[in-house]
Amino acid sequence: MKLIFERGSEGQGCAVLPACDVPPVTLPKQRTKELRLPQLSECGLSRHYTELAKEVHGVNDGFYPLGSCTMKYNPKVNEAAASLWGFTKIHPLQPEHTVQGCLEVCRQTEQLLCEITGMEAMTLQPAAGAHGEFTGLLLMKAYHDSRGDKKRTKIIVPDSAHGTNPASAVMAGFTVVSIPSRDDGCVDLEKLRAAAGEDTAGLMLTNPNTVGLFDKNILEITSIVHEAGGLNYYDGANLNAVMGIARPGDMGFDVVHLNLHKTFSTPHGGGGPGSGPVGCKAFLAPFLPGRRPAGREKLHWETSSHSIGSVKAFYGNFLVVVRALSYLLTLGREGIPEAAQNAVLNANYMMTKLQDLYPMAYPGICMHEFVMSLEKMKHETGVSAMDIAKSLLDYGIHPPTMYFPLIVEEALMVEPTETESRETLDEAIAVFREIWQKAKTDPASLHEAPVRTGIGRPDEVGAARHPILRYEF
Ligand SMILES: *Cc1c(COP(=O)(O)O)cnc(C)c1O
Repeated sequence: MKLIFERGSEGQGCAVLPACDVPPVTLPKQRTKELRLPQLSECGLSRHYTELAKEVHGVNDGFYPLGSCTMKYNPKVNEAAASLWGFTKIHPLQPEHTVQGCLEVCRQTEQLLCEITGMEAMTLQPAAGAHGEFTGLLLMKAYHDSRGDKKRTKIIVPDSAHGTNPASAVMAGFTVVSIPSRDDGCVDLEKLRAAAGEDTAGLMLTNPNTVGLFDKNILEITSIVHEAGGLNYYDGANLNAVMGIARPGDMGFDVVHLNLHKTFSTPHGGGGPGSGPVGCKAFLAPFLPGRRPAGREKLHWETSSHSIGSVKAFYGNFLVVVRALSYLLTLGREGIPEAAQNAVLNANYMMTKLQDLYPMAYPGICMHEFVMSLEKMKHETGVSAMDIAKSLLDYGIHPPTMYFPLIVEEALMVEPTETESRETLDEAIAVFREIWQKAKTDPASLHEAPVRTGIGRPDEVGAARHPILRYEF
């Protein structure tokens, strides 16, 4: 398709601005060359973005089983709530008495999320999961520092962890101690015991973990870390499997982040905006960042006594919080656990219907997602996890997560989510099975896939390492 710079022509435009009613100011001339902005009519601009949107696969286009990302359908009522003028046409510096409704949204969301996670205080400021991790780690650091315990410099992270975990720990100034997982994908207690000690600041763990399994030793894991004087951080990206059923607070975790854009239903995948609230136990609350709603009848903003500062401007991505609250209130006390149960049911249904052809990386019942390994297939036919993923695109299915977690060779991680019907799952199962047949009979065709999309196989490494971010006229 044409780039925006190649559309339109000199003199076209769509600005309908009122006449200027303030005195003009002449700025010192900085620019040596004239700025060459595209000139398009409103119609041309609208078509440009519609064309772009058509090139993209979203939840509204079809099945999107991208493991660990929880690409569930986002109910439109959330959008309706988030587009109310009282939420969109406000200013963060407006006097508190004029935005009581917004404070109430934050207060209720914090309360409900604390209840779901078993935490006692929460900040809505972080903009994403990774940002929440960083924030949570700073809380842990502030806690150890406040007790004069300066030797706790290490964060233990299992090798199955999402890449953001070790990255956040390093950004927060810690050293990462990676511990290998057992063959069943769970934490190796002996390795954990050996790693935990006087220099342990804490452990970061995802549960259910990144291979889709609930660690049955979770209480022992968290107590090993506590006994060593460390804190437990819960990566809540997989909360969709257990929300309303099991609480990180009861599992022995002290800090948790949630990905509102995953579990609590905000469209994501295009780079944001997201929201990664961080909840904690009461003893960490004095360190929370930003301003939080306080008061009873009349609400006001309050800063924690030993706050680590701000991690984002004002109140975070507020409209994502509005969507999350709308989602929480529409599903309610019965609907939230039911969504989790259906997410787990859908994953197990798909896994069971595929496991005679596709070897699963771990045996037994899964939680909300499962990981298959195409190692044997690649060895026998030359067809890789990448080939399978690419060929799904020709059937209108978004590929599963590929080559993650790193501990599984030729991994494909499938997360169907609770919002898919049995019919959709059956169609997807049939497609997976058809592709498997093709891999056996005509492997060469799979190396060519996809053939029905606008773009075939871009050079992904090249695109990441040498991105072209500027249009050359
Ligand atoms: C998505 C994810 C993250 C990071 O969350 P973002 O919102 O993308 O920053 C961290 N851990 C796990 C397990 C995830 O799936």
